Amino acid sequence: MDLGITGKWALVCGASKGLGFGCAQALVAEGVHVVIVARSADPLEQAAQQLRGGAGVPAGTQVLAVAADIATAEGRAKVFAAHRDFDIVVNNAGGPPPGDFRDWGREDWLKAIDANMLAPIELIKATVDGMAARGFGRIVNITSGAVKAPIGTLGLSNGARSGLTGFVAGLARSPKLAAGNVTINNLLPGAFDTDRLRGNMEGAAKKAGQTLEAVMDGRRKTIPSQRFGNAEEFGAICAFLCSQQASYIVGQNILADGGAYPGTF
Ligand code: NAP
Repeated sequence: MDLGITGKWALVCGASKGLGFGCAQALVAEGVHVVIVARSADPLEQAAQQLRGGAGVPAGTQVLAVAADIATAEGRAKVFAAHRDFDIVVNNAGGPPPGDFRDWGREDWLKAIDANMLAPIELIKATVDGMAARGFGRIVNITSGAVKAPIGTLGLSNGARSGLTGFVAGLARSPKLAAGNVTINNLLPGAFDTDRLRGNMEGAAKKAGQTLEAVMDGRRKTIPSQRFGNAEEFGAICAFLCSQQASYIVGQNILADGGAYPGTF
């Protein structure tokens, strides 16, 4: 299927690896020019090179790498200095650490809210009116299955991402955006095999006195698909949400979790 977005410009945050990289990969395969962002410059440049050399990437597709912390105003200014107008924004940053809420103070909460709620809102604010004026825009926020079914140890994530989700539910339905062909949707990963997942499982293995493989195996068995997701399939869903064909999908929370969420709806 031709997604009809060749030549558009996308900002993909948190894209040197994992789910963000998967999204960037799927978009460049469609001939979308991308600005990819992560804090560490070297892995980001390597990711950019991998994207440029990807099989089937249309000639002339541009990949710009901006090393910046998207959770800060300075980081976001650096991104817009590299490229101003985006047709697509994929909001993503590292997830907050697990823990016990009794150990978290105001600074811990502000860090989580900055990265997983306010940064996406600032990027939406900076881009959606221009998108509406040009008659096309797609925002995809990478959130988490934890928004639908909270994960006990990830209270910072449950809280910050739910705040973003509530805000987006209202904004996405504003006629100025929805009627202007600007969609805002959230993509909710369940368990995907990335460094983030492995990091969380290493912590769980240490706590339980088990091997990483044993913990990972146990987790796989709780998922109806009996496997973890991969960044490539996640990226493909993201690219579809960014397509011309997806213009009637507005303000939705799309769960990709191998059936792990047990509810009917
Ligand atoms: P990952 O493999 O750790 O990759 C995170 C990416 O984001 C890296 O490129 C990282 O590079 C970048 N990043 C982190 N903080 C950033 C910041 N402040 N500014 C710019 N870039 C930043 O993580 P992932 O598994 O792809 O997860 C992506 C998101 O989905 C996270 O929020 C995670 O919590 C959420 N999630 C993941 C899963 C899963 O199973 N994988 C499940 C539910 C939710 P630098 O460190 O160099 O900045």
